[in-house]
Amino acid sequence: METSITRRDFLGTALLASGSALFAAMPPSELLAAQENDFTGYGGVGEYSNANGNTWDVLQAGHAIRDRLYDPLPAGIVDTGEIYDCVIIGGGISGLAGALFFQREAGPGMKCLILENHPIFGGEAKQNEFLVEGKQLLAHQGSAIYQVQYPHSFLAQFYESIGLQAPRLTYQKWVGSDPEFPLSNTPYEAVGLQHGQYGFWFGARFNQRPGMWLMDPLGKSLHGAPVSSATRLEWLRWLKGESAEKTKFQHPKVEGDATSRYLDSITLEQHYMERFGLSREMVRSFLSPVEGGGSGLGPDALSAYSDYAFEMLHPLPEGNGGSDQMFPGGNATIARLMMKSLIPGAIDGPHSVEGVCRNRVNFAALDIRRSPRENSPVIHRRPCRARWGSEQSQLSFDRVLKERQTISS
Ligand SMILES: Cc1cc2nc3c(=O)[nH]c(=O)nc-3n(C[C@H](O)[C@H](O)[C@H](O)COP(=O)(O)OP(=O)(O)OC[C@H]3O[C@@H](n4cnc5c(N)ncnc54)[C@H](O)[C@@H]3O)c2cc1C
Repeated sequence: METSITRRDFLGTALLASGSALFAAMPPSELLAAQENDFTGYGGVGEYSNANGNTWDVLQAGHAIRDRLYDPLPAGIVDTGEIYDCVIIGGGISGLAGALFFQREAGPGMKCLILENHPIFGGEAKQNEFLVEGKQLLAHQGSAIYQVQYPHSFLAQFYESIGLQAPRLTYQKWVGSDPEFPLSNTPYEAVGLQHGQYGFWFGARFNQRPGMWLMDPLGKSLHGAPVSSATRLEWLRWLKGESAEKTKFQHPKVEGDATSRYLDSITLEQHYMERFGLSREMVRSFLSPVEGGGSGLGPDALSAYSDYAFEMLHPLPEGNGGSDQMFPGGNATIARLMMKSLIPGAIDGPHSVEGVCRNRVNFAALDIRRSPRENSPVIHRRPCRARWGSEQSQLSFDRVLKERQTISS
């Protein structure tokens, strides 16, 4: 920790190497010639409006690293003399948690800096805000749900330490005079499927032009779907979660038991075929894009155990703290609680779930060195693309999230 490293060292080894390993080279001229288009899309209102996912600017910055635009570093890079005991690249929940542990463990007088290439912290755990008919609506970006942890466990204690005191949430109940419209608490549930508020769209691939909706597919037992009767039966079995007749499926009980080990020896696709009596074609046509999608791979590549591993980590039964929980903006709330724990002034108002949800981020508290850096026009005009290296200072992307004179203060 005492050895000096230059920005060039860091760029050369860590970031550029990984960047170029992942992507094939593409001439920077092509990248820079590309105009900002509708890639970024509408980001709503409020403090996340310019941070709706990996925006065009963030993408460009990543491509510029990949294409070694900063190798050699542009002229004019100067050493600002800033010294930190810990520098964290990325202000997602890992970076924020890292900074929190550093703050708690490293002792007084230690300084930590988080560098983040979006205009706001959170990484995948960000939200967006929309105004619809005068009402403010929140929606999550990537990370949506969290699980209630075992009481007294490390994670339960961590939740408490950031102010998540009641991890099992109480959800608003319908009190209107109209019939209740059942809604899922998280995007991973499909409550509407059981209540006729669900539809499947069949397009040109199913010879439907311009396309057709099949509403309430479960209630209609998929009648009217433009698929063969064999596919219809398989699909129904899947939707109802019914095992194939000849299958005697045993749910794994603990990690490492015989069922777990067997599941880990076959693909998820094979497992669906065995458990639900599905054809491979059915899995690939209807389930592949979704099942296992969170892992970035399809069922043909994933271990069958991946479908159960998650539950094995969180085996608390429903009703006893085991179910998924979600804030309106997803885990952005957890990122905000972490930030409030790191720098109490970072978000106005009380340190509570409601406090961090309802109040605004105080950006000046996140970047106490911001003013002296305003000489660099790219910081503010093209934050993601060019703060890198053009800030006349150092490795720096978009917003310096956290920089404290002393961690202990
Ligand atoms: C679509 C999707 C849905 C998910 N749903 C859930 C869920 O419901 N529940 C759940 O628990 N988990 C979910 N996850 C997983 C969860 O989001 C991640 O495990 C977690 O948020 C990762 O946090 P992280 O800080 O490690 O990475 P990230 O959230 O990716 O944060 C990394 C940050 O570093 C920044 N960064 C990267 N490179 C640089 C650089 N060179 N310089 C500066 N900044 C940089 C990135 O822009 C980003 O802001 C989901 C993930 C995805 C993609």
